Amino acid sequence: MTNTKTNTGLSTEEAKRRQQQYGKNELAPPKKENFLKKILHILCEPMFLLLIVAAVIYFILGEPRDGAIMLIFVIGIISIDVVQEWKTDKTLNALKDLSAPHVTVLRDGTEQQIPSADLVPGDLMMLYEGVKIPADGSVIRCADLCVDESSLTGEAEGVWKISTEHAEPTGDYWRKDYCYAGTLVTQGTAAVVVDKIGAQTEYGKIGIGVATAPQEDTPLQKQTGKLVKTCAIIAAALFLLVGIFTWFNIADHAFHERIVESILSGVTLAMAMIPEEFPVILTVFLSMGAWRLAKKNSLVRKLPSVETLGAVSVLCVDKTGTITMNQMTMQEIWIASGTEEALIETMGLGCETEAYDPMEKAMLRYCEEHGFTKESLFANEFVTEYAFTNNLKMMGHVWRKDGQLVIAAKGSPERILTICSLTDEERTATEKQINYLSSEGLRVIAIATAYPENDGVIPASITDCHLTLLGLVGLADPPRESVKNDITVCNRAGIRVVMITGDNGITASAIAKKIGIPSSDRIITGEALEAMSDEELRQAVKKVSIFSRVIPEHKMRIVKAFKENGEIVAMTGDGVNDAPALKYADIGIAMGKRGSEVSREAADLILMDDNFTTIVETVKDGRRIYDNIRKAVGYVFTIHIPIAFASLLAPFLGIPPMALLLLPLHVVLLEVIIDPTCSIVLERQPAEADIMDRNPRNPKEKLLTKKLLIKSILQGLVIFAVSFGAYFITFSNEPGNAEIARSMGLSIIMLANLFLVQVNSSDHDFVFRSMIRLSKDKVMWAVNLGTLVLLGVILNTPLSGYLKLAPLSVTQSLMVLGLAAISVLWYELVKLMKKLQKD
Ligand code: ADP
Ligand code: MG
Repeated sequence: MTNTKTNTGLSTEEAKRRQQQYGKNELAPPKKENFLKKILHILCEPMFLLLIVAAVIYFILGEPRDGAIMLIFVIGIISIDVVQEWKTDKTLNALKDLSAPHVTVLRDGTEQQIPSADLVPGDLMMLYEGVKIPADGSVIRCADLCVDESSLTGEAEGVWKISTEHAEPTGDYWRKDYCYAGTLVTQGTAAVVVDKIGAQTEYGKIGIGVATAPQEDTPLQKQTGKLVKTCAIIAAALFLLVGIFTWFNIADHAFHERIVESILSGVTLAMAMIPEEFPVILTVFLSMGAWRLAKKNSLVRKLPSVETLGAVSVLCVDKTGTITMNQMTMQEIWIASGTEEALIETMGLGCETEAYDPMEKAMLRYCEEHGFTKESLFANEFVTEYAFTNNLKMMGHVWRKDGQLVIAAKGSPERILTICSLTDEERTATEKQINYLSSEGLRVIAIATAYPENDGVIPASITDCHLTLLGLVGLADPPRESVKNDITVCNRAGIRVVMITGDNGITASAIAKKIGIPSSDRIITGEALEAMSDEELRQAVKKVSIFSRVIPEHKMRIVKAFKENGEIVAMTGDGVNDAPALKYADIGIAMGKRGSEVSREAADLILMDDNFTTIVETVKDGRRIYDNIRKAVGYVFTIHIPIAFASLLAPFLGIPPMALLLLPLHVVLLEVIIDPTCSIVLERQPAEADIMDRNPRNPKEKLLTKKLLIKSILQGLVIFAVSFGAYFITFSNEPGNAEIARSMGLSIIMLANLFLVQVNSSDHDFVFRSMIRLSKDKVMWAVNLGTLVLLGVILNTPLSGYLKLAPLSVTQSLMVLGLAAISVLWYELVKLMKKLQKD
């Protein structure tokens, strides 16, 4: 491999060829799940076991036709499930790909972002601060490159790298001119030629990270798991009860028939009672939710975050870039000593030659406008630099200009002033000016200089310098336009917005005031925070929403204080040092644009557009998804009640088994419409109008609250009473014609199902409003029409004979429609009463 300085990377074709030769840059190839295994898995669900038992019984009963129909349904439901699961998998994989690590490489002579998995040996990759190195390779160019290799060597101290050109063979195992996969760039930049990928890397050899953590169930999944179990146990008990009752009911039948009939009625009930939709609801709702969020620029990295999102009560956000546009412009300039030219030139000399910080870009632009081009500024001889750190909040460069050494320093005024010699009057005047500029919402930067005699007296660190203050500059970074509105939304939604910034408190406060953060005059500075005990901080965060002059390490304590107060905290971060706080927060939010790879890896959510508005939208969607899960769970309860009760009650009323309202066949038929109602219709429900007008939900609250349970049971009981009543009355009038009676009861349940979705779309909006809201959704119409067509077909075609149903007369049809409507719409009265009570 040629590692010359003129390396321009690979061509796309060459990269393709090498990928075929070397494979993907992955530690272990992703496992493909066996299709048969998946089907087997579905077949082992209790619901399917029951279905199959029922089918077998039909065959034993000598009714192979019924058995066959059952099996067709079983296959139908399995297909729905397989398709559903396949879709979910596809969604989740697409999400994974989107949030997979990327790396910048030089291909075809231009810089490109590619998935790290597509790296091949010979690729030229660009590294910079915050990158997690994806492959092993030699350093061919680097500047200030410091790498944290603790994941490999256990050595906490960063390693300063050099380029291969400057390296002498040392014989050490860990080379200084080589970068290793799995390690982390903490400073500097480099160009590295990839040498080894995937399992060939040192990291791959050790085998860390190969064993991926098993996917853990989310809290909701655990909750519903328990719920399903409880229902299954109850179903088992009732299975026995109903079986035994049926046994005594049909004493006149032959022994063989008695056994089979008893088991069958028990199986029907069990089938009717197991809410096997619950787990489906969760996976589908969460993954579809994540998918919808991805389309809106918000990538969910961990599925459970979707459910946590809706409970967020505190939003800690960085000021620069998230709340503001990160587009700085020079606004004010104040001279302390010397000339304006000197100040401007020093400011320029204090910037990075390859500035990427928007503030420095603004400064250099300003220099340009005042006659100091970059070329002229940086034509001088660069001697050394004092690097910017979050702790120091200042930086400097030392240049040799026309043979004279010059220190050009800039940074936060508080810090720069500590290394400047000023008289008391000068200091007071400066401080007054700092206050004035800050209160305008400007970021204030102090510029200072010194002229060392010779190279020997250049101070080793910036804090040892004695500088002359040249003056102050004020830079504006306007808040994003939509932020003010978003803050209003958050205030109404009971979500506290907390601003965290490395900037000065007065500036932060001025901006907070502009955008409407409540109590914007209360500020905690990094210094004050350090002096506080955990308990004091906990009390303080109850009232204060602005943290100024903080360093990333403080963020951890801030999150902790909020969490200990019982809040659900979302926090943004972009730097390497933000990772621990992001991990600790309930929802860690990394920035897709300016964030580091490390922060992205620690985050639950990646914000593709770095925009505050997207965070608020995401929280809103989180609330909507949780709402819909609750609606769906309530729905499943409700709709199973008429089915279960019909099976439960029949033997007690002495109805002969063949004349039951719902034979196993019909239970399965109902499942066929219940399934899509849950996973398609309810998943798509739009957010309710007041979704951001209520406080965050209590995170400890159970999914199935008492209120929801009572409502669901009541609704279910009414539908049961109406459908079973219609069936029973018709049957009593015409005992010989169970088909008609059954058709009436079944139609009522199917139609009630449609009304139910509309009525329960909101707990307080009346149904006509929901209908207007839902009418825009084509899928909704498709499902509604589908149900009606299905009903028409099973009643009015020859199919009805197979399904033991019969066509209804017009009068009967209208009656069925009316009864179905009544059985659900009564709930509108409850809404009305609630409304009247409130007013
Ligand atoms: P923020 O939270 O607003 O992003 P930073 O942590 O980036 O704040 O910066 C904190 C402070 O450090 C700034 O207010 C400024 O005083 C100082 N500072 C930031 N970048 C530079 C720089 N390139 N040169 C000099 N000072 C800087
Ligand atoms: Mg910053």
